[in-house]
Amino acid sequence: MTDSEILAENLSRVIELPEGWQDLYRQLMLDISAIDGRARVVDTKEKFGEMRVYLKEYSELAFALIDAANARSRSICQVCAAPAVLSRTKDGFYATVCSSHSNGFLPADFSPLRHVRMVVPKADQ
Ligand SMILES: [Zn+2]
Repeated sequence: MTDSEILAENLSRVIELPEGWQDLYRQLMLDISAIDGRARVVDTKEKFGEMRVYLKEYSELAFALIDAANARSRSICQVCAAPAVLSRTKDGFYATVCSSHSNGFLPADFSPLRHVRMVVPKADQ
């Protein structure tokens, strides 16, 4: 695959995300492409009110951009992209929502996510 094919494939995954984060994801893909054109996304989704992006292989440069975008997603409404806060329902469902989309939600006092990234060596290393 060429770098531009990888970028196109990465960009096509935008539909897996809530609409409010799609511009954030598109910009992230363009930024990643500029520093590591080989970085391929294998999965992206909303998890506990945060955008998550998973790569096929380790890329220190791409991970730095992904970590920053993940953190930024916790202040962008996942429905409409307005300024927002990480929020939760009484029964523990998390979302990052603005005041217009926070019906049933209260601001969360902490994120339930703790990020741990492990590198598992390949068999030939
Ligand atoms: Zn909103």
